[in-house]
Amino acid sequence: MSARPTLDELNRRVSVARAEVEARGETFYPGASRVHLAAFPPKERWSDWVELDSRAWPERVERRYMLVPTTCFNCESACGLLAYVDRDTLEVRKFEGNPEHPGSRGRNCAKGPATVTQLTDPDRILTPLKRAGERGEGKWEPVGWDEALDDIAGRIRAAIDEDRHREIMYHVGRPGEDGFTERTLAAWGVDGHNSHTNICSSGARAGYHFWMGMDRPSPDHENAQVILLVSSHLEAGHYFNPHAQRVMEGKKRGAKLIVFDTRLSNTATHADHWLSTYPGSEAAVLLAIANHLIRTGSYNAAFVERWWNWREYLEENHPDEPPTFEAFQRVLGELYEEYTFEFAASESGVSAETLAAVAEVVAGAGTRLSTHNWRSAAAGNLGGWQVARALFLLNALLGAIAVPGGTYPNAWNKFVPRPIRMPPRHPKHWNELTWPGEYPLSLMEMSFLLPHLTREQEARLAVYFTRVYNPVWTNPDGFSWIEMLTDPERIGLHVALTPTWNETAFFADYVLPMGHSSERHDLTSYEQYDGLWIGFRQPVLRAARERLGETVESTRDVTPGEVWEENEFWIELTWRIDPDGSRGIRQFFESRERPGEKMTVDEYYGWIFANSVPGLPEKAAAEGRSPLEYMRRYGAFEIGSTVGPLYEERVPDGELADMSIDGAGRAYTRTGPPPSLNVVPLPPLDGDGEG
Ligand code: SF4
Repeated sequence: MSARPTLDELNRRVSVARAEVEARGETFYPGASRVHLAAFPPKERWSDWVELDSRAWPERVERRYMLVPTTCFNCESACGLLAYVDRDTLEVRKFEGNPEHPGSRGRNCAKGPATVTQLTDPDRILTPLKRAGERGEGKWEPVGWDEALDDIAGRIRAAIDEDRHREIMYHVGRPGEDGFTERTLAAWGVDGHNSHTNICSSGARAGYHFWMGMDRPSPDHENAQVILLVSSHLEAGHYFNPHAQRVMEGKKRGAKLIVFDTRLSNTATHADHWLSTYPGSEAAVLLAIANHLIRTGSYNAAFVERWWNWREYLEENHPDEPPTFEAFQRVLGELYEEYTFEFAASESGVSAETLAAVAEVVAGAGTRLSTHNWRSAAAGNLGGWQVARALFLLNALLGAIAVPGGTYPNAWNKFVPRPIRMPPRHPKHWNELTWPGEYPLSLMEMSFLLPHLTREQEARLAVYFTRVYNPVWTNPDGFSWIEMLTDPERIGLHVALTPTWNETAFFADYVLPMGHSSERHDLTSYEQYDGLWIGFRQPVLRAARERLGETVESTRDVTPGEVWEENEFWIELTWRIDPDGSRGIRQFFESRERPGEKMTVDEYYGWIFANSVPGLPEKAAAEGRSPLEYMRRYGAFEIGSTVGPLYEERVPDGELADMSIDGAGRAYTRTGPPPSLNVVPLPPLDGDGEG
């Protein structure tokens, strides 16, 4: 057996391969491991890519593919995929990573390429179904889209006309496009968007929100000196692959990885320091580390003095202290001194010596401390939101905020382009079923209480949509949901939008089949590094046919059976709710190019890419393509990288008109934020005056 090639030899081979590809004027994308020859197909050959059919081996049978990008939908990471569309049969034969995608950079977890099994799932739902027996009896009959749409639209129209807006609700599990359904409901004047968030992530979100007014962190793992992760789900679930690959790159550059997890998770197996803390004790350990930073003077005093509101704190809580930073430092030390390593050890079950050693590692990070807490520690324990809060305290002490290797507010690394039409953000009707006044401090919708709220408020939902949301199975009290869903007094009509069966869809009146990731449109953008990008999920057979010169009017024309996509569904439903436009609803989905006609998804995305994504029109024009053609061709676009510490930027004078400053130095101005093409963290309140 020949000896394995050395790293140098592998690198040399990659260099030779790169030189050969580039000599042909093509783009060389190194393979995922960066050292072997499994490079991605050059984008110049994505229209006609030839591979040998592995199943025909040893015969050399060529397969010709069109490579069409889309976005994975099997978790929130939204990694780029390339669909390999057989040019002879126009079937998707497989999926690989899309090297043009800035977040995933061609790398995927196993669930990405496994998308092909979802397309060919013999049990997937291919036809709209209508309940035939009692709800939950399991009897169904096929129904046409027209009949289903007319029935649903009629009920929604009646609810709106009779001022029963709160009887309409959309409840989402896995969201598609940021803001699309929120805007649809807002166009209807309905405050009925409900999510699954309070079940899993609102604990962590609360902790972050109280620090920075944004509910997620964006850790720059790749450039970190120390990476501190809390919870097993993290980097093994949410933003799994894009973060995981950057954690490994950070480690390759010498970063130390600290993981708090009761289990030896995938992430923990890669840790330099794995702390198997007792559940619920994470905040105690983090506060002990904070105490160490303060006590040893190893925190970033210059950052704290400049950016913390310590004067206000002293004034409010220690009015007898002199208003000096030195006094604040002393008070800060006293505030955290009870959180000793011994205290944290007794809480967590991890020895004080180990905790002290880890605290020293954190102290050595300087401003390069990337941290992330998501889910279990924050969601599974009473007061869990304090875990995220205590974790971000370490960043705040070290000044490791929005600097290379630090942790950013998520909205600074996320770009949601302003859409073609914007209804007002807040409908006039408050919905006590989503934001009950009884819970004034809730950060997210109180979605998990819906069965109880409908019962206590004697409330009825005339039309209740679930979208890949399965509370019957996943929520702790599934039987309460069955009770609600089978009660016609509480649920007038349950419409389940889903590609596959689930326990909640079983209790629906309509089950409407929606496409998988390569069968629908969505725009995505997530905080995965210090940069801004958008990804385009698209029906790949639609894009493939258009590349061949065909015109595709509706995504339904290229999906299996009667499967549809949600964006076209919502547009169609909205028009049927307001057929003559007299309710002022359908205008939000009316074509700008052809007034009086329905907007198409081509116009919707074409407008966004041409008008709301800085740099994209120019980049597309350089290739002789329209912005929409560019996105259909490559599936992703990076708007910018290295956003950096925005808090250091001077606020433009125009925004400071009519300003007052309070005693603590906070500036208040009546001037609204300038119009932005990026509608995160919040779209404008009053929407688009033109409708
Ligand atoms: S990490 Fe998520 S989005 Fe990326 S390939 Fe895996 S399942 Fe798909």
